Amino acid sequence: MSGPAAPPLLRVTDLVKHFPVHGGVLHRAVGWVRAVDGVSFDLAPGETLGLVGETGCGKSTTARCILRLVDATSGSVTFDGVDVLRARGDALRRVRREMQIVFQDPYASLNPRMTVGAIVAEPLVVHAAAARAQGVASRADRRDRVRELLATVGLSPEHHNRYPHEFSGGQRQRIGIARAIALHPRLLICDEPVSALDVSIQAQVLNLLEDLRDRLGLTSLVIAHDLAVVRHMSDRVAVMYLGRIVEVADADVLYRSPLHPYTQALLSAIPIPDPVTERTRERVVVGGDVPSPADPPPGCPFHPRCPRAQAVCAEVAPPLVDHGGGHCAACHFPGA
Ligand code: SF4
Repeated sequence: MSGPAAPPLLRVTDLVKHFPVHGGVLHRAVGWVRAVDGVSFDLAPGETLGLVGETGCGKSTTARCILRLVDATSGSVTFDGVDVLRARGDALRRVRREMQIVFQDPYASLNPRMTVGAIVAEPLVVHAAAARAQGVASRADRRDRVRELLATVGLSPEHHNRYPHEFSGGQRQRIGIARAIALHPRLLICDEPVSALDVSIQAQVLNLLEDLRDRLGLTSLVIAHDLAVVRHMSDRVAVMYLGRIVEVADADVLYRSPLHPYTQALLSAIPIPDPVTERTRERVVVGGDVPSPADPPPGCPFHPRCPRAQAVCAEVAPPLVDHGGGHCAACHFPGA
């Protein structure tokens, strides 16, 4: 008999982030952008969750709220039992140390005036007490740790005194990853980690992230706008649309039998490397643009673009319903 399931390392409940829209002579708030509009999910220790959706759907804002880089409007985030959104002092420092992020843009996320060694060593300096507890006490220890980290991400340790502009995009992303893992975090959030890279480099960086996750036992949240990017590294995948999760399932299940028309459209946009299958398969095509999160449609937010929409869809928002085995979809007419 198996024991009780481990409690989640990260629990996000009804997370909301609305940004004010200012206008008029007095620059008052005249409306709200509903960037994140009630997002909930759990992340078990060692699990990788892929969070996917078009640009502007709120996935990066969700990550920033979890990390306290922006303040959430409401909801809760619990990391290893700590109430992240209300944490202060030592508790907040610990959470910030144990949750790290790899940013989308390796050009903008590295300080061009710092050497690569100084960039990777920065967390060891900022969290000096934690670094000491991990055996990195002196300047020499720090230098050794930086060299070890550079080697771990596939860079030459001898390049520690070079500057970011001397590296390619893929190499800069490796530097960002080395910085993120410097203090042995427990949760790694990767925010579109390969979208700024050449296609030829993307697989290398994804393989590195997957390898590090397995070697270091990391729990990961991987954000992407393309379902193909997270396919191989995710245990589960959640699909976001206009600030909400519209479908979540084990990765195999979601790719094999998606229930939500939006997920089906995203999947049918992925090219298949077999020209015959690619030519003959049926596509789910959605028309129009993503509506503005400042003025979301009533009812199901996907209804103006949905090929399966019926009258009820414009009036009643579908709840996220479990259709068995944790495969949840927010649709009045789920299925093929
Ligand atoms: Fe489409 Fe209606 Fe389902 Fe929304 S609820 S996804 S509009 S079928």
